[in-house]
Amino acid sequence: MSYETIKFDVDSDGIALITIDLPDQSMNVWNAQLIEDFEKAVDEVLSNDDIKGAVIASGKDSGFMAGADLRMLGDSSENPSVQEVYEGATRLNKLFRKMETGGKASKDLSKGAYTKPFAAAINGLALGGGLEVCLASHYRVASDSPKVQIGLPEVLVGLLPGAGGTQRVPRLAGIQNAMQMCTTGSSMKAEQAKSQNLIHDIVPHDELIAKAKEWVRANPKVRQPWDEARFKFPGGQGAMDPRVVPIFAGSAAMAQKQTFHNMPQVDKILSCIYEGSIVPIDVALRIESKYFTSLLLSDQTQNMIRTLFINKQAAEKGMARPKSVEPVKLQKVGVLGAGMMGAGIAYVTARSGMEVVLLDRDVDAAEKGKDYSRKLNDKGISKGKMTKDKSEEMLARIKTTADYDDLKDVDLIIEAVFEDPKVKADVIKKTEAVIGKDVVFASNTSTIPITSLAKNSERPTQFIGIHFFSPVDKMPLVEIIPGDASGDLPLAAALDYVKAIKKTPIVVSDTRGFYCNSVVVPYLNEAARMVKEGINPALIDNCARNLGMPVGPLALMDETSQELGYKIMMSAREEMGDAYQPTGVDDLLEKFVVELGRKGRKSGGGFYEYPEDGGKKYIWPGLTEHFPLADTQPSAEEVEERLLFIQLAAVAKCYSDDVVHDPQSADLGAIFGWGFAPWTGGPMSHIDTIGVEEYVRKAEALAQQHGERYAPPASFRKKAEEGGKFYAAA
Ligand code: NAD
Repeated sequence: MSYETIKFDVDSDGIALITIDLPDQSMNVWNAQLIEDFEKAVDEVLSNDDIKGAVIASGKDSGFMAGADLRMLGDSSENPSVQEVYEGATRLNKLFRKMETGGKASKDLSKGAYTKPFAAAINGLALGGGLEVCLASHYRVASDSPKVQIGLPEVLVGLLPGAGGTQRVPRLAGIQNAMQMCTTGSSMKAEQAKSQNLIHDIVPHDELIAKAKEWVRANPKVRQPWDEARFKFPGGQGAMDPRVVPIFAGSAAMAQKQTFHNMPQVDKILSCIYEGSIVPIDVALRIESKYFTSLLLSDQTQNMIRTLFINKQAAEKGMARPKSVEPVKLQKVGVLGAGMMGAGIAYVTARSGMEVVLLDRDVDAAEKGKDYSRKLNDKGISKGKMTKDKSEEMLARIKTTADYDDLKDVDLIIEAVFEDPKVKADVIKKTEAVIGKDVVFASNTSTIPITSLAKNSERPTQFIGIHFFSPVDKMPLVEIIPGDASGDLPLAAALDYVKAIKKTPIVVSDTRGFYCNSVVVPYLNEAARMVKEGINPALIDNCARNLGMPVGPLALMDETSQELGYKIMMSAREEMGDAYQPTGVDDLLEKFVVELGRKGRKSGGGFYEYPEDGGKKYIWPGLTEHFPLADTQPSAEEVEERLLFIQLAAVAKCYSDDVVHDPQSADLGAIFGWGFAPWTGGPMSHIDTIGVEEYVRKAEALAQQHGERYAPPASFRKKAEEGGKFYAAA
């Protein structure tokens, strides 16, 4: 028997070791070849009388298995029929069921028949389909390695656990734990998984396989608990059990609160768990496959898989990286400026194992920046996510200084000093005087064009923008901005660096605000305009949340601060002179900042009032005095449409002007840069899904009603006439 993705060995006791080890991949995932090989291996174990049972293990140090290769699922280009999709969706369910029943009928097992044992030896992360094969094994033992992570993250990409996860988890851990695990997608450590009955034991890492084999040897005849005659779910099940009825009722309300019913996969997971709890396992698995199929066939799930998984991974692997440049050495990074951004950049860099030279005007200021890392580490220690030793090691990698000589052996520079061209020019000069000739200089400026900053550099071909978002430790996106003179080296170095700190890069053009801020600013301005029009501020923010945005635009403006908006407006006015186009909210910003002193959340509040005792924020009662409510309020649908279409208009303009070069980057930047409703798969996916023609029709209607800022660009009108989709064309 030959296999491509697994190793199959049988020891002298007749115990098979099925080691999953995908060639040329750092992590195991279910793909067509592995499914075929695994089925062959299961058949061999079941049919060969010399084999007593099997241990399933991983050949990767990186972990057990990360789930399924979603490229398998995220390609609807061949337009399969519903029947074909359903058949595909049931394949793993059937295979795992064969493994756990030995191919015997459930009724025979419940009458006392047995099958051969399969044990899963979990050496690291086991997520999604990687966990589901373990749950279908009769015994699950995990190593005591801190790398062990157990979870079902399918919900995060628009899917549900479709290989038995929604059925076996409630049967092992109870309904409530299953709902929590399947609907949040968060993973847990081995100890928690054991306490929830999801794994049987935790053993020393180097004894993992031996312990799994020991169990198989001692348990030659087995069947799953749910194949026992009078199996009961721990904690109750079904439509009548008073222990679970309130859980089912509450879960629907919780789903509404957390997802605003924008995430159909969450509702379907709850249906799988509920419906599956009142029928036997074989029927329950078919119910799961049915819901899984309906998700796979929806545009929304396909969009989410494409953006949140396939394109995100491709971007992170460096799709945009120039192939001709060798991997850039990144052992030591110089971070200039230890303010809010520099401190965050130093943290994410040192956290990823690189050394950091953190430079500010004096050592005290640099130390203050390093304190940020200290605080985040202490938080991690108090939550048990980091050890004191690891924290010390990490902090030792950050050297604080005010002396440029300390930068002499760094491999990359990231500059985050004041947003002042003169200060930046001075810093560039001093830095280039000491760093190596080939070292790339990256600026984190948010408003100064990279091309103009590069003019201060002796080596403009090595100059680039790496634009982070605040707070750096939390925000996953990084914009990379080549200037006119940038060569391949800085682009490669920037992408290698972003990969090393495990964030998602997009490459965008060197225009004012780059991509994300070119959309966020008009979006926030539109919300402020609505306030001026007398639309109830609570309606505005609630509609944004209902649309799937993580926070309302008025709350977001308070965070980014009215003061920053005011400063950006003033500098744009100064720079652009007569060409400056008023935004429609210049007067509102001036009123907030200059007249009312409401400069944002951190300084005196904004649209909201923030109680000093940390209580819940509420709309500033004085707001209606300055911006009275209109007698007639628009419907929620109208407000939502405006909030959505003002973002689509700005994205369309950026795409049309080549500020962002492809739909993939436009969608990634939107979701990870400013939290554009993830259920859409991103603004370009959304335009494709509603149809370019329909987008143009609606955008034109809104432009007529509210102003030209909603109007679609000419290239979008043309596309609407020609037909087709942006993704298909890309
Ligand atoms: P900040 O004011 O918090 O920090 C700037 C730091 O630079 C200060 O610690 C200051 O002492 C130091 N500094 C000033 N002049 C210096 C010099 N000559 N030599 C060494 N250090 C010097 O500012 P910030 O918010 O961290 O922003 C820094 C940069 O990042 C700016 O270019 C800004 O546009 C950009 N940025 C900011 C954000 C944001 O949300 N704040 C987001 C993306 C990018």
